[in-house]
Amino acid sequence: MRIGIISDIHANLEALAVALRRLDSEKADRVYCLGDIVGYGANPNECVEKVRSLCHATVIGNHDDALIGRTSARYFNSYARAALDWTARVITDENLAYLTSLPLTRQEDGLYLVHATPAEPLAWNYILHPEDARAHFEALPPKTVAFIGHSHVPVRFDDGAGRSIVNVGSVGQPRDRDPRACWAVYDTESGTLQWLREVYPVQEAARKIRAANLPEFLAARLFIGM
Ligand code: ZN
Repeated sequence: MRIGIISDIHANLEALAVALRRLDSEKADRVYCLGDIVGYGANPNECVEKVRSLCHATVIGNHDDALIGRTSARYFNSYARAALDWTARVITDENLAYLTSLPLTRQEDGLYLVHATPAEPLAWNYILHPEDARAHFEALPPKTVAFIGHSHVPVRFDDGAGRSIVNVGSVGQPRDRDPRACWAVYDTESGTLQWLREVYPVQEAARKIRAANLPEFLAARLFIGM
């Protein structure tokens, strides 16, 4: 099975549409979503509705979790907090109920799905370096590939004994200085992992952020992928 794994869409409908179109044209069997569907961008409802109807499995991200009121926004920076307040005003009850229903982790086809970390999914820590990954391998069943998001930087860590932690990157707000939408495709038979990158209409996503009076920085950063 070829599985598309998307994460950190952040209400960027233009980027999400491009990723889903490419996965469809490549005949991915399934699409999984690792959360942060909302926050930062201007199309939270449209993005939640697309994920809800097209993804086979979805886990909750910290921005989704703050929106439903479980995770405190105290540690959010001012941009994230402004986006959260704006999103809370526009999100529909139905979409909020859907986000509330999402689990923190899921295991599908021998794959482990979590937004931030396997060991402490609700702590929202980051796995950025091999040292960070070490403690989290132990939280995984043997021979398991875990897919994560959260840092918006695509990277893979292996424990050398069959366990891997793969950050699929961010669809809607890449932060590795490459502004193209980023996600991963994993082949469960061959174990082949591939990151895909696509140019999307950044101009339009940024225009909507400005039209919604969200912080200018949230529009500007899309052009540089930071
Ligand atoms: Zn995120």
